Formats: sequence, structure tokens, C-alpha cells
Amino acid sequence: MDPDALLDGLNPAQERAVTSRTSPLCILAGAGSGKTRVLTRRIAWRAATGDLDPSHVLALTFTRKAAGELTSRLRALGLRERLAAGTFHAIALAQLRARWAEAGIAPPEVLQRKATFVSRLLHGPTRTLPAIDYVTEIEWAKARMIDPASYADAAVRHDRRPPVSFEVMASVFEAYEQAKREARMIDFDDMLDLCRRDLTRDPDFAATQRWRFRHLFVDEFQDVNPLQYALLEAWRGDRTDLCVVGDPNQAIYAWNGADPGLLRAFPERFPGGEVVRLVQNYRSSPQILAVANAVLTTGGDGVDRRGVLVATRSDGPPPVITEFPDDVAEASGVARAVRDHHAPGQPWSAQAVLVRTNAQIPALEEALKKAQVPFRVRGAAPLLDQPEVKAALTRLRSARLGFAEAVTELASGLDLDDDDVSERVAERRANVDALVQLAHDYQAIEVTPSTEGFLAWLTSTTRGDRPDGGGDAVELCTFHAAKGLEWPVVHLAGIEQGYVPIGQARTPEALAEELRLFYVALTRAERELCITLARRRRFGDKDRPRTRSSHLEVVDGAIEALAAGIDPVDVGVGRRAPSAVRAADATPRRTKGSGRPSGARVSNALDDLTDEQRALFDRLRAWRSDTARAASMPAFVVCNDATLLALLRLRPTDRTGLLAVPGIGPAKAERFGDELLALLTD
Ligand code: ATP
Ligand code: MG
Repeated sequence: MDPDALLDGLNPAQERAVTSRTSPLCILAGAGSGKTRVLTRRIAWRAATGDLDPSHVLALTFTRKAAGELTSRLRALGLRERLAAGTFHAIALAQLRARWAEAGIAPPEVLQRKATFVSRLLHGPTRTLPAIDYVTEIEWAKARMIDPASYADAAVRHDRRPPVSFEVMASVFEAYEQAKREARMIDFDDMLDLCRRDLTRDPDFAATQRWRFRHLFVDEFQDVNPLQYALLEAWRGDRTDLCVVGDPNQAIYAWNGADPGLLRAFPERFPGGEVVRLVQNYRSSPQILAVANAVLTTGGDGVDRRGVLVATRSDGPPPVITEFPDDVAEASGVARAVRDHHAPGQPWSAQAVLVRTNAQIPALEEALKKAQVPFRVRGAAPLLDQPEVKAALTRLRSARLGFAEAVTELASGLDLDDDDVSERVAERRANVDALVQLAHDYQAIEVTPSTEGFLAWLTSTTRGDRPDGGGDAVELCTFHAAKGLEWPVVHLAGIEQGYVPIGQARTPEALAEELRLFYVALTRAERELCITLARRRRFGDKDRPRTRSSHLEVVDGAIEALAAGIDPVDVGVGRRAPSAVRAADATPRRTKGSGRPSGARVSNALDDLTDEQRALFDRLRAWRSDTARAASMPAFVVCNDATLLALLRLRPTDRTGLLAVPGIGPAKAERFGDELLALLTD
């Protein structure tokens, strides 16, 4: 491979990051700035210039999916050799297994079902809490290399609030470690810790591994936890050939033990190293980026303002917020929007539907299925594989009551204490809620509902006819699982208080993490961003009113500023209320390439329509779908919702009137004018 070709199209900072001879090297930059691109090009460039041998490279990431992505991007860059790319766990286990084989030691069993294992250890007072909550806390502690003896002190220091006393928690933690040792089992965290320990204690083992892996690269470094970091240090030894990339504003795993401080402290930790910052965004339209930047700047001390990026892509429509009366209407609205954005030549995989929690997924799955939209659920284990859902199903199966009563009991058993703030507790409750809701759906279609019938129905509904993994499909996944990925069209559903931010986030740190998570979600979109929410939502048996996410105020403000041709960050959207934006005395300055302001807001707007207007709006949308399909172009290229609403508002009757509508230029007027005027005056 020609090394110069690998530098093609890079901006100067990216080129510096690819070619710098200084190490360690830290690339610190915001979402979509090309960090992953630079990381892979750096490996390829160093290989092409003879500076490294790819068979001695170790590229680390946090998910198997991301590791696969790294390998395929490297192959696309011409690297044919085998290159080790994997998760910390996969690499650690491979090395340990090799070591055990060499020493003739039978490998210990890997503990897969922690919650079941822990539940057997619970007696007396420890039984008040479900096993899964102990597991969450034990995982947090182990990720930070905290042992049972030091747990209580560390928990106080980190302001942890487990639902039982620190002493009880520590005793279960201790019993868990001991039972595991006796059974000759290891858990996932033990893999990392054993590998680290062996590397530090056994010079031969360390020398072998360090010979094998001389060049270390880590993507998404903001999500490294102290245990992974210690292992990385053990792999590195006293060498400096390390390159890490990350974005402190995308740190979303602190709740699980990750420590973004490790990324921030990198420059001090390696004074001889180099830090490269990238400031341009190559992923999103200026409109989407402006909204994401505005949201980011609300973060106060929780964000690094250097993450505010400059757009390079061409204009797109402003993000659109749509409110629905309830969750069912929202789910089918999202499915409809996905269909609307689909056109021949535009694969389904160009779109993703992202949600905050796993529990929101089944309702959307169902709506997509109804709308015959092929979809794929990424990442997190499906609902039915969740331990609490399995437990609930077991309870249903063994209940002596009739099906309806058993479901009611399941639902009422959910009324846990609202002050219960652990993340996993809330997630668990939400998962069982989702199950209860499915039970109601089932009861609605079944004349003689029974547990067996429900179980059979469940398997067919929740996964039976899920499209196969390889086909063209819309992605449906949580914000967490969407990290590092990108799609031309992104739908964010359920953007309500309670989800965004999540209800149990109470501390400033937890709220800051929620904000970063929303920022991660917004920055997945390339061209179109559709935000939806429901005014009411069913949780198990209860129907609850919902309010818009507090973050949407900033999004509104940013959209308004965009419509006025102002860069939202310039006028302090995110630091001041949106009304202040309107009054801002800043001289309106066009955002880079923002072009014509086209930002009518669709939020609420649909609710405000009269029946007659609503009918016309639906006709316009139907026309748009047909036109897009006939012309083999995406629906949004024909015109977006904001433009349709503007058409309704302005009701042009001739060509000149049509041209005055934001979003309609001479080309569109020429091409669609007659049809639109006919529809509007019909
Ligand atoms: P995230 O923080 O979300 O992981 P990232 O910083 O890793 O984002 P990439 O995924 O590497 O960003 O890049 C975002 C998109 O921009 C990709 O589609 C990438 O190919 C593209 N891109 C990056 N740099 C350039 C460039 N110089 N010219 C054209 N496209 C680019
Ligand atoms: Mg990336």
C-alpha cells in the first residue's frame, strides 16, 4: 500500500495523528471527528512505511462488534495480515488459556450465570435484595479493583448507594469470591485480573506477551475502567508504543465502573507523549451538529467544551421533534417515519431507531413488524433473556391463579420503593413492566388466555420472525449500544423525562452522564434526526402522563436559532433559555453553510392542526412517499415535514407563493409545483 494514499483526504490534524512519531499518542476529540478513522489509518500507515509489523499489533476496543469493525476497516485499507483486534476480555482469556495449557493446568470454568450463583449464597438478612442487585454492585467494585475488605470505605468515597448496608453488601461480596474459588470458577472480571496478576508476577509470561504485542492501540478510551487500565499497563510494561483515542464527552459507563479521568489524566501521566485534538466533524449535517453542540454546552463542568466541533458536511434539514398522544401512537408513528424515509436505492440499514432503555424495544419491534419494516436489534440481550424476565416467567408458570390474576399479581409486585435508585433495579423493573405489557397485548387478542398460550405467543412475537442478521434492516438499539456507530437517518424515541435523563439519575454526576449519553445519541445521525415522545405511556398496569425531556428545551432553542440563521452555540443556547435566543442582540450570523433557514418546528405543530389541516397534511405525506418511490429518492429529498407544515400554513396558490415557502427552491417548484398546487387547492 502506498503510504501517501493513506493520507488522502485527511485534514492537517488528522494527518498529524496518523503520522506522528511521538508515543504514547493520545487523540482527543468529539464525536464524528474521525478518531476511529485515524486509528485505523495510523496502523496501516505505520505498516506501509515499515514502522511496524501488523502481526505485532494489538487493537483493543470494548465490544466484539467494534473489534470486527476495526478489522474490516483495516482490511479495507489493504492490511491482509492477521492483526489482533479484540476486547480486553477476549485477549486476556486467550493469553490465560495458552498459559494454562503450557503449564498443564485445567482451565477453570467461566461463571456465566452470576445472578443464579449469587442467589444460592443469600440467607437471612441478605435475602431482602434480589441477587441481581448484589451482582451489579460487585461488578462495579471489581471494575475498580476494590476487594470485599475495602468495599465499604470505597463505596462511601464514591457515594455509592446500594439498597442494603455496606456491611451486608461486603459480606455477600466476600461469600461470592469464596464460593467461586471453591468451585474453581472465574468470572469475567477475574479474567482481566488474573491476566494482569500473572503478567506482573511471571517475567517469562510477560516477556512472551510483550514480544507478541509491541504496538498497542485502544479505541473509545473514555470508557476504560481501572481494572482494564491496569491490565493495559501490564501489557505495555515499560514501553511507550501506545496510542489511545477517546472523547471525554462520550463517557457513558461510569455507572459501571469506567473512569473517564484516566483519559483526561493521560497527558500528565505521559509528559513525553503527544496529544492531538481534532476539531472538525465529518459525520453530521451542520444542523444536527449545531443541536448536538448546544446540548453539550449545557453540561457545565460535566463537559469538555473543546468537544464543540465545526461542521464540514453539506446542509440538511433541521432536526424535527414530534409529540404523540401515547406510546402506542408513538411506536407506530416511528414505524411510519421509517417507512417514509425509505425509498428504492436507500437501504433500510441507512436508518436506526435508538432508545434509552431495553424495555422500550419490544413495543417498537412490534410496530416495525406491523409496518413490515425489516429490523435488527443490536447489542443488549433480548428482553426474554433478562434474568428478571426469566424469573417472572417462572413465577407465571408456577402460579396457581388464572392467567389474568397471575399477570395482575406480577404487575402489583412491581411497586418497589421509588427511592430505590440503583440503575439495575430500575432497569429490572422496566423489563418486567415490558413483560406485563406484552401479557396485556396477548390477553387482548386471545379469547381464553393461558400461561402456555402466552409463552408460545411470546416466542413468536419477540423473536420468532425476527429478520436474519445479514439482511438489509433498520437498526433498533439502545443509546449505549449505538456508541461509535453512524446512520444517515436516526430516530430517537421516548425523549421524555424519566428516560432522558433516566429517572433514577439524581446526583449531579449521574445527570451529567445522562447528558453525555443524549449527546452520544444525537451525534449518531448524519443527515436527518427525528425525535419523538409520547404524552402518556403505559408501564405494566399503569398509564402515566409523561413530559418532554428537559433537554428538548435546548434542542428547541437550537432549532429556532438555526431557523434564524444563527449558530446556536454563538448565542448561548444551552446556557440560556431559548427565549433569550430570540431576544439575543447578537448580530445574526449565518452558520457555516447553513444556507436558507428552513426550520419550522414540527413539535406540537401536529397537535395544533385542525382536522381539515391534518387530513391535508396526511395527503401531502402520502404524495411525498409516492413521489419518492417513483423517483427512487429518499422521501426527505422530496421535502421534509417542516416544509409540508409550511405549505399548510402558507397555502400558496401559485408558483410565486410556492417559492416563498421555506424548503422549496426553483428546482422543487419546477419539478413538483403543479402536483403540490393541485393538492393544496383541491
Ligand atoms: P465517534 O466518537 O462517534 O466514535 P469518531 O471520531 O470515531 O466518532 P469516525 O467514525 O472515525 O469518527 O468518523 C466519522 C465519519 O466521518 C466516518 O464516516 C468517517 O469515515 C468520516 N470521516 C472522518 N474523517 C474524514 C475526512 N477527513 N474526510 C472525509 N470523511 C471523514
Ligand atoms: Mg469512533
